[in-house]
Amino acid sequence: MRTTYPPRRKSPPVAHLPESSHRVPFDGSFRVADVPTDPPGDAPGKKEKKELLEERVQELARLQRILHADDRHAVLLVFQAMDAAGKDSTIRAVTTGINPAGFQVACFKKPSAEELDHDFLWRTTLALPERGRIGIFNRSHYEETLVVRVHPEYLEGQRLPPGPRGKKLWKERFHSIREYERHLARNGTVVLKFWLNVSRKEQARRLLARLDDPDKRWKFEAGDVQERERWDDYMALYEEALNATSRPWAPWYAIPADDKPFMRLAVATIFLAALRGLDLVHPETDRDVLVNEAAIRARLT
Ligand code: ATP
Ligand code: MG
Repeated sequence: MRTTYPPRRKSPPVAHLPESSHRVPFDGSFRVADVPTDPPGDAPGKKEKKELLEERVQELARLQRILHADDRHAVLLVFQAMDAAGKDSTIRAVTTGINPAGFQVACFKKPSAEELDHDFLWRTTLALPERGRIGIFNRSHYEETLVVRVHPEYLEGQRLPPGPRGKKLWKERFHSIREYERHLARNGTVVLKFWLNVSRKEQARRLLARLDDPDKRWKFEAGDVQERERWDDYMALYEEALNATSRPWAPWYAIPADDKPFMRLAVATIFLAALRGLDLVHPETDRDVLVNEAAIRARLT
């Protein structure tokens, strides 16, 4: 009789990941055209958003301390968006109050020569959070299915070995990404992915504001306008990437990004729900401490 080892499982064990009206379904039915860039009508008012964000951020900071003590899970938050959607400020908002020693932010820009000498998941792997920590990707391995598709010359620069190109190559990349993230989830990393969905109109307003603001003008790059001109291509690619990779072990959330306070609150809410879902516990007191507690106390007083 043929036996299989290890025994087959129907689905992999994965951490509990939060439900949300923003969550991208796992069945490929996500359509960019159907999701709002504005908050829903029943969203909290300005003051309430601020208060709720403060509350959630405090609770995030408390749970991060237990995540660290528990030391079994890591949390990875991936942020992808068009320029000026508010990645930086959202990251700042949800990490305010968290002990800086407990999290790290990695920004992924055009790959270096060294990075190009490795497979496309190498550089993000180096930046993964270890157990007990929160890792944030400001852009990520998903650029490999977005900007690299919009600019085929970037793919040429990767010096790939002979093999499939075109549709098949992207199918393989999505397959690699799904399996990579599933591997991370199985090994204790909670993967949450946020697409900050800004409208084309709001992006123009924010880019113009950058040009007008002496403090932000430096952020403006001529290339931003070029990428904006490829808006429809990017939207089609986001749709494909989110459908191909939103899975129970690493869901995507499409967050309306035209109202920044709402966007920050929505991200903090999902992040908090994920931490709460982990049932984090403080480790047991050290046995030597328990046995010798009276003596220890005596030495301290
Ligand atoms: P800001 O919102 O402040 O402008 P940013 O994330 O856009 O921040 P930039 O330095 O302006 O940061 O841009 C980084 C650029 O690097 C983006 O245009 C992005 O598409 C590009 N990039 C990221 N990963 C890759 C990759 N794997 N291959 C090619 N280009 C990439
Ligand atoms: Mg930029």
